[in-house]
Amino acid sequence: MENSILRTAPCAECGAEMMWTQNVWPPGAETSAAYRCLNGHLADPSTTRQCPKCGVHDTTLVTSATGQQFFRCAQCGEPFTFPRSPP
Ligand SMILES: [Zn+2]
Ligand SMILES: [Zn+2]
Repeated sequence: MENSILRTAPCAECGAEMMWTQNVWPPGAETSAAYRCLNGHLADPSTTRQCPKCGVHDTTLVTSATGQQFFRCAQCGEPFTFPRSPP
C-alpha cells in the first residue's frame, strides 16, 4: 500500500524511480511536496495533481486547454480535470 508514494512513470531526465517527497518544492524555497528521483530531479507538482478517487499523486497530465488540465490516475485509472469543476 505504501508503494503509492512511488510514481509509475520514471524520471523524465534520467529514468530513475521517483518518490513523493515532502518539502522539496519549489526549488530554493522548499515548502511543498513533489516527486523526486534518486538523483534529485523534481517533477513539477502542478503536473501530478492528486487523484480525487484514491488520493495519490501518481497521475499523468494528458493535456491542458483553456485553463483546465486533464489527468489520468496511474494507480486506479480515474480520469479527472483540474480545477475539478468548470468555471
Ligand atoms: Zn532523475
Ligand atoms: Zn486514483
